[in-house]
Amino acid sequence: SAQQAGGSKLPRYVRVNTLKTNLEDVIDYLKREGFSYQGQASGFEDLRRLSGKAFFCDLHLPDLLVFSAKTELHNHYLYKAGHIILQDKASCLPAFLLNPPAGSHVLDACAAPGNKTSHLAAIMNNKGKLFAFDLDAKRLSTMSTLLLRAGVTCQQLANQDFLKVDAHSSEYQTVKYILLDPSCSGSGMVCLRDPSQEQPEESSRLQSLAAFQLHCLNHALQFPQVERVVYSTCSTHAEENEQVVAGSLQQNPDFRLTNLLPNWPERGLPPHTQCLRASPDKTLTHGFFVAMFERHSTGAKEAR
Ligand code: SAM
Repeated sequence: SAQQAGGSKLPRYVRVNTLKTNLEDVIDYLKREGFSYQGQASGFEDLRRLSGKAFFCDLHLPDLLVFSAKTELHNHYLYKAGHIILQDKASCLPAFLLNPPAGSHVLDACAAPGNKTSHLAAIMNNKGKLFAFDLDAKRLSTMSTLLLRAGVTCQQLANQDFLKVDAHSSEYQTVKYILLDPSCSGSGMVCLRDPSQEQPEESSRLQSLAAFQLHCLNHALQFPQVERVVYSTCSTHAEENEQVVAGSLQQNPDFRLTNLLPNWPERGLPPHTQCLRASPDKTLTHGFFVAMFERHSTGAKEAR
């Protein structure tokens, strides 16, 4: 079945929400409940072998715990209280890599339901300003609930088309960091896939998604003070990933790609190997893509 092919085999990832608690307290709480803490994972093999109530600290990301595939925490107190966020490891990469300092002004262009927004707020320690946009009012209202539960207070939500946000408005003059996670084909989401029904993505659909994504990326690079833009998708298609990045680099000579996490095993397709890919086979996550654009000669602090 599709489940056996992917979804149910992936480890369960738990992001500790540092706005409400800390790693140590969550580990202690879970140990008291019979979970068995194994320390920091030393390689993917540790994570592949996880079973029962054993859990590790992740290899690459801080404040991320890794459990066996069958672990179910949706009804757990720590989840309901906003102390932990159930978020795939790959989708923790964008905010971690953008790494906005406390006090900075940050824009989340396509933000709902807001797991990456809440991660950004945690990294910023709720200090600064987080402008978050989404076109879909219903998803935005889900997001308000999620952010409330997570204790996020530095956000300013707007039900707005990011492409119509005026990059030159005085409000955004101090925005240096942008996270762009636009709508995509979702072809990387293993649990949504049923291999027996899998169809080649219609090329016209991919083309229109890619045109939208490129438009969003070019728009993000128009903000006058922006130093760093992280672009991500949960797609496996080069059309929505490396090809969008290539188009944007060509049109924005002031920006270059940052070489991300040198020890991450799965890279963007050549020549865009500065970017990261993720997949069930190689990184034990959903399929995902991340690129980071940096303005030439900025004073931004060293990238991750
Ligand atoms: N970043 C989110 C998270 O981590 O929870 C997931 C974002 S989802 C991949 C893409 C979002 O983009 C959807 O919620 C969709 O409503 C929104 N969207 C699509 N077109 C948009 C536009 N032109 N402006 C703003 N948001 C848009």
